Amino acid sequence: MASGTLRAPDGRMYIRKSMLEEFSFCPYKFKRVWVDGLEKRPNQAMLIGTRFHDFAEKFFDYCLGVDPDRWDEFIPAQFISDEASMAKWFIERERDRYYELEDAKRLEEFMPITREDTMTSNILLLTSTVDRVDWFNKEKNLISIVEYKTGKSLNEESLIRQLAFYTLLWNDVRRKGIVANLQLVNPRLRIIRNFNVQQWHLDKAMRDISKLRAAMKTGDYPRKCSDVKLAFCRLCSPSECGFWKNIHDVDIKSRFDNNFTFTKHREGIL
Ligand code: SF4
Repeated sequence: MASGTLRAPDGRMYIRKSMLEEFSFCPYKFKRVWVDGLEKRPNQAMLIGTRFHDFAEKFFDYCLGVDPDRWDEFIPAQFISDEASMAKWFIERERDRYYELEDAKRLEEFMPITREDTMTSNILLLTSTVDRVDWFNKEKNLISIVEYKTGKSLNEESLIRQLAFYTLLWNDVRRKGIVANLQLVNPRLRIIRNFNVQQWHLDKAMRDISKLRAAMKTGDYPRKCSDVKLAFCRLCSPSECGFWKNIHDVDIKSRFDNNFTFTKHREGIL
């Protein structure tokens, strides 16, 4: 069992957003990580993502004490050029947002309502940490759930599921304001994308959570792979994923599997 998992008194596990994403990607991968406790070593992309999240969170601790035209000075000298350029883009967006709200005489909406907020529902048995929640329109009591992503591509279905997951938690735990908007901020792709929260998004997220609970009950975690997933994930060999079916491939297959297993040992996966 993975460390740090939260359990109810009856033994049921609290589901995190990352668990649901792992399960949707591949139920077998979910099992390896969350049931068998396989440790994932952070790669460079994950470390950059974590550092950006830290930067974006701390930015709001200090920004109101400094003239917005000097916010670029917050960019840490230790950032590599990729990180510095993401931070610069983020600051430019926040500066624009600040001046727009100031012009609209709604500057009190600039500061997020909450950041890096861990919410735990003892009714739904869900837990997760939301990156940020902003006012969408304070007068109308509408809020916007904000998610930072630093990946090089965008999976809209996964993103909406994650934001719907937060919405379910927010509606159950915080109940401050009505979630009217889901916002993606990706400083690497230089994208801000807004989605309307619709009831079917929440229904679908609940259905996905139920499927995960059912799998946890039965212990049924089938492999759900593709050549792209295999290249990205590499927890199984190609033959384990059923990619070697032709008799002429047998020799190549055994050589590949041997090499693959060796690589996994070297990387500490096995
Ligand atoms: S390699 Fe494929 S089947 Fe194995 S855990 Fe990863 S995605 Fe699932």
